[in-house]
Amino acid sequence: MKTSDSDSEIMTTATSSIQGPANSDFELVEGELLPEMLMRRLKRRRQTLALAAASHLVNVALLVVYAAAGTISAAIVYAFAACAAGSVGFFLAVSETGVSNRWRDHHFAGPYAATTFALLLAFIYIAPQVAVVFLGALFLVANVVALRATPRQGVGAWTMMTVGVAFLFLLADLPLSIPFGSATERFGTLLTFSLTVGRSMFIGIFANSLRDTLYRRRVELEAAYKRIEELAELDELTGSFNRRCIMRMLDDEIVRAQRSKSPCTVALIDLDWFKRINDSFGHPTGDEVLRTFAITMFANIRSIDKFGRYGGEEFLLVLPDTPHDMAVQMLDRLRSIVATLDWSAFSDGLTVTISAGVATLGPHETPDTLLARADSALYAAKERGRNRIASA
Ligand code: GH3
Ligand code: MG
Ligand code: MG
Repeated sequence: MKTSDSDSEIMTTATSSIQGPANSDFELVEGELLPEMLMRRLKRRRQTLALAAASHLVNVALLVVYAAAGTISAAIVYAFAACAAGSVGFFLAVSETGVSNRWRDHHFAGPYAATTFALLLAFIYIAPQVAVVFLGALFLVANVVALRATPRQGVGAWTMMTVGVAFLFLLADLPLSIPFGSATERFGTLLTFSLTVGRSMFIGIFANSLRDTLYRRRVELEAAYKRIEELAELDELTGSFNRRCIMRMLDDEIVRAQRSKSPCTVALIDLDWFKRINDSFGHPTGDEVLRTFAITMFANIRSIDKFGRYGGEEFLLVLPDTPHDMAVQMLDRLRSIVATLDWSAFSDGLTVTISAGVATLGPHETPDTLLARADSALYAAKERGRNRIASA
């Protein structure tokens, strides 16, 4: 009666772990579920109840063969069909109302197992001549319940079934049998075995397909997580890489440069008199300046270059495969572009300049010492009057 709808709910788990504390499937309650998820749950329950109905129909067909062989009366077939239809109908009604969405076990694995086991055990008692049909069905119900039940529900259902079977086998003194008398009975028994094994295989294949779906969802989720991580790597204000990300890129670039023995140069860029800009033109204008500066940088660096916000109005530019002289030239060009930009469009009298310290990776140098050298060069550029590039 149970199938996993984890594939549909795994998405909620992913979202909730981003938004707040992680929700496990069993902790989800109705109020937290999106309407489309409730719909998916309902579809799952319908699907599994349809499977249960189909399996009961096979049982009825087997009983019809035994009734034709004279092993049991037609009344038993009608009685079983009515009870099976009643139980599936009852659970379908419960499912359709959506009331089980409030329960931890919205698939009602426990109640379904208990009801169906009771039904089958009762019919073994009523029609022991065809016990083989119901014993096979017990085994199938156990299989399906095991797909979704918690270990506790599983042990509970198994214990109940064992107690019932023990009563029937040991105490009830019933003529339990596998009918082999006539050709029709042999045919019925052949069908019973074949269809029981067949349904059991079907459940296994069904479980496999659930696992495949889960695997696919996991791959999709991993891709989504990666995308989210990428988004979290960007600085909100400027759209450039944030500090954590640009530092990681610098580490990677240094490893790559040292392995390939290619030059790697970095520049620490700082906006000049930025505090004054904020004070004179307002913080929002300061923000606009930062954004426009970043856009200007992106428009004028190469695709291999990495540009990120190091903090405040200070930025780090990583220039792979770039010798020192070339980097200084590039930075001076960028400096000149920023200085000649028409900043008065933002506010009358606004001018913006940058200073930068350029340092090229030495043999066996670490990111820390490289950045420290770039920082001293930047300090020197500021000391010498700003709007200039200094070399480490
Ligand atoms: P210097 O030429 O020596 O770099 O002078 P400066 O004024 O630029 O340097 P200082 O470090 O004293 O000031 C940096 C200012 O940048 C102070 C801070 O308020 C401002 N700032 C940092 N982050 C932001 C931001 O995101 N938006 C705005 N508008 N201002 C920022
Ligand atoms: Mg500054
Ligand atoms: Mg600064």
